[in-house]
Amino acid sequence: MKKVPTWASVPLMVGAFGLLAWLERRRPLRRAVEPKLRREARNLVVAAVSAAALRVAEKPVVEPLSALVERRRWGLLKLFKLPTWLEVTLAVILMDYTLYRWHVLVHRVPWLWRFHLVHHVDLDLDTSTALRFHFTELVISVPWRAGQILLIGVSPLSLSVWQTFLFLSIMFHHSNVELPIEVERKLNRLIVTPRMHGIHHSIVKKETDSNWSSGLTVWDWLHGTLKLNVPQAEINIGVPAYREPEEVKLTKILKLPFGEERPAWQLPEGGRPLR
Ligand SMILES: [Zn+2]
Repeated sequence: MKKVPTWASVPLMVGAFGLLAWLERRRPLRRAVEPKLRREARNLVVAAVSAAALRVAEKPVVEPLSALVERRRWGLLKLFKLPTWLEVTLAVILMDYTLYRWHVLVHRVPWLWRFHLVHHVDLDLDTSTALRFHFTELVISVPWRAGQILLIGVSPLSLSVWQTFLFLSIMFHHSNVELPIEVERKLNRLIVTPRMHGIHHSIVKKETDSNWSSGLTVWDWLHGTLKLNVPQAEINIGVPAYREPEEVKLTKILKLPFGEERPAWQLPEGGRPLR
């Protein structure tokens, strides 16, 4: 197999989105601030723009690059003659780790944060938030993605397996589905779960500065950035400077990275939220 076929990945992704959106209505984890349907529609519009941008700016770069990596045997994993299953597994693990590093960067580097902010100002968190990244953030990440592919030695098969894994993973951990706590605790040892990622979307800065992993939990654990002891009921989702539904309307969030920057971690009335 050269890559995960579209006839398998597309129904899998659409099916997972539908299942999670249905479960969110049956067993919500956090109380909603905005009407769900309105937010889902808004987030899907942002996602459609981003999907178009990825087709134009990412696909024509990363797919030929990974084919070249395969042909010329460039990158770390191509130094060895590994069985396919092992090469793909290691590629997914290394892509996941380097994405963790990228996620830290988009929070820490001020001009990158402007773009990632659009993802974080959502006042609620659900599966649709997983798809709501400003298209410029995704376009800016193309050189990083190219670097990952080149250094790690990511083949077209590994790339498509990682993309499918990442997509399913982010939809799952952004979802507002209440899993039994004991199930979540078990899953959490290996992969990022909804309660864990909910803490990363808190308006409290020291909580946002934790749980950066997008797939495997191990990276937060290794870097000492894992935080699990915040009850979901106490979390306010979002960014302190943008607390009103008026401020996170579609047109406003699309323009957000280019407008005047506010001190994101301060409440409009001043001070920092403790909860
Ligand atoms: Zn983030």
